[in-house]
Amino acid sequence: MKTIWLLLFPICIAIAWLLGYRARPKEEPQRKSTIPRNYLIGLNFLLNEETDKAVDIFIKMLEVDSDTVETHLAVGKLFRRRGEVDRAIRIHQNLIARPQLEKIHREQSLFELGQDYLSAGVLDRAERIFLDLVSTKTHSARALQILIDIYQQEKDWEKAAQSAIKYEAITKKNMQPIIAHYYCELGEAAFIKKQYDAALEYLEKAGAADKSCVRASLVQAKILMEKTEYKKALTSLKKIKDQNPDYLSESIELLALCYERLNEEDKLVAHLKQLLDEHPRVPVVLILAEHIRKRKGDKVAANFVADYVRRYPSLRGLYIFINIYVSNAEGRAKEDLHILQNLMKNLLANKPDYQCNSCGFSGKSLHWQCPGCKQWSTMLPVHGTHEAIA
Ligand SMILES: [Zn+2]
Repeated sequence: MKTIWLLLFPICIAIAWLLGYRARPKEEPQRKSTIPRNYLIGLNFLLNEETDKAVDIFIKMLEVDSDTVETHLAVGKLFRRRGEVDRAIRIHQNLIARPQLEKIHREQSLFELGQDYLSAGVLDRAERIFLDLVSTKTHSARALQILIDIYQQEKDWEKAAQSAIKYEAITKKNMQPIIAHYYCELGEAAFIKKQYDAALEYLEKAGAADKSCVRASLVQAKILMEKTEYKKALTSLKKIKDQNPDYLSESIELLALCYERLNEEDKLVAHLKQLLDEHPRVPVVLILAEHIRKRKGDKVAANFVADYVRRYPSLRGLYIFINIYVSNAEGRAKEDLHILQNLMKNLLANKPDYQCNSCGFSGKSLHWQCPGCKQWSTMLPVHGTHEAIA
């Protein structure tokens, strides 16, 4: 690979130089004779793998004027793509240092330099450059997009939200669902520090930005439960089925706990039955079956689950059914069911609980921002009706 680059790179430089050279309307005779000589010297340095010296020659050779700026930018980009970020930085800094550089080219060079710093992982310098570029006409949207990425990486959610608001104003692209996540991040951080009121304020903001933000409802409910305000927590949790029923499974255990604390288990059963009619999900069945088992015994609970699995076949549903059934069975049947139970347990242990519907990333825990494709709200629970036995 390195050999190919050694051969290709001088050719790219030559093409870049020729483009810059030919673009000049007039060449004074002296320069005409010196450029090819310098080029050969540079080429020699490259072939001897003395890239630093080669860069010096190329920088000297390509004098900065309006005709050669594009060539400099192309060469800088080439270095960055090769992973030689230091050299790309030198080329772009050399451009910016020229006082006669036109505004448009200065901004372009700054943009490239910012990308060099990003590639080098020097985020604070990149941030300063892109902040300067926000006020430009040509680069403001792209600069804000990069700033949003930087702030996300640094988990600076306040600044991410501010940049997203500006980005939305410029591009008219709806950023509210993402902004809601930034407020949720801030809310969760305050929740961890037990600053409940501050946390609830952030979640209010999240809900105002995006009415269908499930995460805001979930975190809000958790905080209210911590404050033993179970009725209010229930109100938050009940929103989820309309916000996005795919996340319903995330709310079921919390819902059951709230009703339990309020001593309203009858209401829980009625609510879960209604949920099951509208959105059949295994976690709903699991909790309902447990309540039926407590009140009416194993057999009725097993029949209830069997009926559900018949209607909505899924591995997890079947597993719950066997778990209930095994305690009722006797002798050989019990032994066989135990084998099946273990087999399914192992099978389910290897299955992901969440999967990104954009890039396919999967895992055992829910990430609101997919670690694979970095998109928000694309990871969904896979249990329930999404998973057929076949
Ligand atoms: Zn993804």
